Amino acid sequence: MNKSSNTLILAKLCDKKLALFLDFDGTLTEVHADPGKTQLSLEVKEILERLSENFPVSIVSGRALDDLRQKVSIPSLTYVGNHGMQIFGLEETFVYDIGSKAKEALNEASGILFKIANSRPGLVLEDKKFSLSLHFKGLNNRDESLLKAEINGLLADLLKSGLLRITGGKKICEVRTRHHWNKGDAVSWLLGRKAFIGRYPVYIGDDLTDADAFEALQGIGTSISVGRQDLGADYSLNGVDAVLSTLASLATIKVRDL
Ligand SMILES: [Mg+2]
Repeated sequence: MNKSSNTLILAKLCDKKLALFLDFDGTLTEVHADPGKTQLSLEVKEILERLSENFPVSIVSGRALDDLRQKVSIPSLTYVGNHGMQIFGLEETFVYDIGSKAKEALNEASGILFKIANSRPGLVLEDKKFSLSLHFKGLNNRDESLLKAEINGLLADLLKSGLLRITGGKKICEVRTRHHWNKGDAVSWLLGRKAFIGRYPVYIGDDLTDADAFEALQGIGTSISVGRQDLGADYSLNGVDAVLSTLASLATIKVRDL
């Protein structure tokens, strides 16, 4: 059952030794047409810092690891980039090995998408080394559908080879390798690390790729979707402001009370 309520969530979490996993774009900050221009406000950084004094806090994103670390820039957090393929924490680092063939295929796809992105306005290509993201927030739904069909055609051989696959999201087309290591796998991997053992995991996210993490927490933690109720989460919050308000409340919990 999906309940849209800050109060219910706080009642559920207030007496637990938490481990927080937070998506970035659309969860801690609004989605920006140009992802390079997204900034995390000082207020949010302060909340995250306060939370990390009491609980392990991990930021889990489709962004490349370096980009994510630079955007958040808080040393006490764990960072999970490229949908789980890169992890950097206080004690742990992890890099998923996608293999040389997949790297070559991604390079080829990057060249094709780079030409598309340069050929029309409103498109931004991010080459994240483990995956590619073509952002098209400037397009209407019809142009978006046409463009997706065009991309599928241009990448047909690479997709047929089985080395790459395309996944969708909010105003984004992502080209990823065939490996199905995802945000949920990364969260499960972290939960087996020393700093996370015995903790109650909570994951907050707004998009399809977060649903993998929601699934990973079934029966062992709490999942919270943002702005939508169709991702199989335990609870939902209306938007970024509601997330920040919930996190600010969690940050006031005193560890000695637990
Ligand atoms: Mg997101």
